[in-house]
This record gives sequence, structure tokens and C-alpha cells, in this order.
Amino acid sequence: MDCIFCKILNGDIPSKKVFENDNFIAILDAFPANEGHTLVIPKKHFTNIFEIDEETLKEGYSIARNVANSIRKSLNIENINILQNNGALAGQTVNHFHIHIIPRLENDTVTMKSIPVTIDSKKMEQIALSIKDNM
Ligand code: AMP
Ligand code: ZN
Repeated sequence: MDCIFCKILNGDIPSKKVFENDNFIAILDAFPANEGHTLVIPKKHFTNIFEIDEETLKEGYSIARNVANSIRKSLNIENINILQNNGALAGQTVNHFHIHIIPRLENDTVTMKSIPVTIDSKKMEQIALSIKDNM
């Protein structure tokens, strides 16, 4: 499969590993948003959050918190984003599930800004009901 993270997991592409267990690796992002930007990657290939099984997902977020804690201590950073992209429009460029841990600094270049859209309360009610009905 033509997947960069599978190639890293196979040892075909080098990486800077900060953690490994039976199910996951955590590596430094090769194009970091800030120093310490780390990716938590399951060893099994899942495309996105809708494919990954619940148990592995939970383990991934537990590892993400541990990595974030290590970053706090090692880099002395208190502000950290933990995020995850699904689909090209959401910014996903590698179609192998992964969790970003991004240390944040004063005046860094990281953004995910939006201008709020206007939605009337009837429509908001419909949206809430529709999401609720599909849970
Ligand atoms: P996303 O845009 O959420 O799919 O994130 C993919 C991330 O993988 C980006 O932040 C890239 O910088 C990172 N990336 C791409 N190639 C490599 C690589 N060879 N080693 C480590 N990180 C990579
Ligand atoms: Zn893969």
C-alpha cells in the first residue's frame, strides 16, 4: 500500500521515534508546526476515525496525553493542541489515522480560524435533532 506511515512502520522511511508499544508508535512530525510536534500512529492501517476500532482509539488518545505530558516536561511547554484530521477538506494529507500533538508558543504560525456562520434558531434545532437522531 502506498502509505507513508505504513512505510515508516515497516522501516522503509526513517523517523524520529519518541514512543513505541505493541499497537502504536509516536514520531516527530517531519514538517513540524513547532518544536516537539509529534504524531501518534497506530501500527494497523486505519484510514480515519470512522475506521479505527474503539479500543485502539482509546489507547491512541491515552498515548497522546502521555506524549503531551512528556512535551510539557521536556520542552517546558504548557499550551498544547491535540487534534486529528479526517478527510481532505479537514486537512488530512496522510490517509492513515494519526493524532497530532502540537506545542503552542506565543505568536506562532499555527491557525485554525473561522468566521462564525449565521444560523437561525429553528435551523439550529433541526440540526441538533438530526444529529441526536443519528447517534
Ligand atoms: P495530516 O495533514 O493531518 O494528514 O497530517 C500529516 C502529517 O504528516 C503532516 O503534519 C506532515 O508534516 C507529516 N508527515 C508527512 N510526511 C512525514 C514523514 N515522512 N515523517 C513524519 N511526518 C510526516
Ligand atoms: Zn498506512
